[in-house]
Amino acid sequence: MPALKHLLRDTWLSASYYSGLSHLYNAVAGRKQGVISFHNVLPISKLQPFDVYNVDLTAAVFEQQLVFLKKHFRVLPIDQIDDPTARGFFLTFDDGMRNNHQILAPLLQKHQLTALFAICPALVDGQLPHIWRDHLYLLLRQNEGKQAWLPMNNYAKPYLVEPNNTLTRLFKQYVYANQIADIYGLIQDICTRNEWPYAPILGQDDLRFRFMNWSQIVDLAQQGHRIASHTMTHRVLRFLPAEAQQYELSESKKQLEQRLKVPINTIVYPYGGAEIDAAVVQVAQNVGYTTGFMNVQQHSLPIAHLTRPRFAFPATAYTPHLHAITSGCKFVGKKILNFFSK
Ligand SMILES: [Zn+2]
Repeated sequence: MPALKHLLRDTWLSASYYSGLSHLYNAVAGRKQGVISFHNVLPISKLQPFDVYNVDLTAAVFEQQLVFLKKHFRVLPIDQIDDPTARGFFLTFDDGMRNNHQILAPLLQKHQLTALFAICPALVDGQLPHIWRDHLYLLLRQNEGKQAWLPMNNYAKPYLVEPNNTLTRLFKQYVYANQIADIYGLIQDICTRNEWPYAPILGQDDLRFRFMNWSQIVDLAQQGHRIASHTMTHRVLRFLPAEAQQYELSESKKQLEQRLKVPINTIVYPYGGAEIDAAVVQVAQNVGYTTGFMNVQQHSLPIAHLTRPRFAFPATAYTPHLHAITSGCKFVGKKILNFFSK
């Protein structure tokens, strides 16, 4: 975002908060129910530059966000999440990394809150070393300053690996532009071409890059949290053939039910934006999900209870910003800002 737009946004947010506009908006037109999506909460004082997907928060900022929510809004117990008339906000956490059990759950307990955790069984079982995007990031980090053969130029010549994540971004663009279905096969191919072992990269930020094990996930459920499917392997559902979509959605449900001995009715679609289409939603309905969560606030997909919106917080504890997002006032400001910057 250009600096001027940034300044205008922050000025708008502060003005709307301190003038009472954000509160007034919330009272009159604010959202009655909201679902907030988070990923990782890390015991570090400053976010690492690897967070190109905006999925990390420091534990300190996260806790300030919890305190903010409790002070200004209502955070509801997760067992009310299927009730469309429940008035308040729900917390959801995607991917099931180890920090969820070690760092995040104790903070939720401290604030007497419960949440939804979205889990990929094949990743918990170690059938794949890492989520593909994390795996490529870790491989490149191990090879900083060296050369790497990558598919973005069809392996025509090696790239120099610099510590700035450019290649991770380029790789993501490549995956989306080519609608890669077998993304883990592609990571394996990269490993073969570079003579890197295709294996978990351990001992490097395990809280961020390794998954909870089953006993930790069972423990979360016993603490009153709810578990959802996040598919088997976190591939992009829209890029998959129908039988693979079926497998991702139904096998994950089945395996979670076997492990946790409770019905699993909720699907949190990975990525959860343009990665989902009406066909995917139909499969989710066919295999028996009754609640589904996107990662966007607006979309044109059918079956409202299987495509419920979510929104995310930025990595900030700045009250005016958080208030404007939670009330929905920010998006009014955005429309005004877009109007004037046309
Ligand atoms: Zn995810």
